[in-house]
Amino acid sequence: MVRLVVFGRQGAGKGTQSARLAAHFGAPHISTGDMLREAAAAGTPIGLEAKGYMDAGRLLPDEVMLGVIEERLAQPDVLERGFLLDGFPRTLGQAEALLGITEVDVAVNLEVPEDVVIERISSRRVCQGCGRIYSVAEPPSRNWTCDTCGGEVLQRPDDTPDAVAARLAAYQAETIPAVHWFDTKGLLVTVDGVGTPDDVAERLIAAVEARLAERR
Ligand code: AMP
Repeated sequence: MVRLVVFGRQGAGKGTQSARLAAHFGAPHISTGDMLREAAAAGTPIGLEAKGYMDAGRLLPDEVMLGVIEERLAQPDVLERGFLLDGFPRTLGQAEALLGITEVDVAVNLEVPEDVVIERISSRRVCQGCGRIYSVAEPPSRNWTCDTCGGEVLQRPDDTPDAVAARLAAYQAETIPAVHWFDTKGLLVTVDGVGTPDDVAERLIAAVEARLAERR
């Protein structure tokens, strides 16, 4: 089993690459953003609380997130196959709490400069049905209807310029300290996230495998 954490500012390709890494290593892909969006769509109490924060591009309180993640990490698939965390931890407090409840083998920092991610996010469009990611430059083949599931393809409510600026500021102020903290623990590997999705995936897999081999 393998226990991975993926860091990357919004628009770095973290979701796409996390899914590929999780599939490669056979670990459950745990995206806190996806979990919160599902909870919001289902109208659960946590989902309703989360929606206000998400639409404004602000982070939920650590206590709320710790409850969510602790419950998820106790599920049988995680106990059996490990995990790939995508979007958690997002603060130093979350990072410290995480290492209090589980070990982590490798933390990956998917590095993409801020000007590149701003461009990517403003053109990003997402299927409301299955979550598949498109862009203005590469839309679905017909009429903003998902090629995979037929769902409606729209801009995420938190991909507006104000919310994007807030999320990037939150990443800088709150998440970068967590990234550095993993580095001080000797767990961090930084990978260049600029390039085609295939190239980046190859780089990531190679970097994680090299680090896992060192640790064994
Ligand atoms: P993401 O899809 O990872 O960009 O997450 C979308 C939104 O969900 C974020 O902008 C936050 O509002 C919220 N969120 C997701 N993960 C966390 C976390 N670990 N801590 C606090 N808020 C989070």
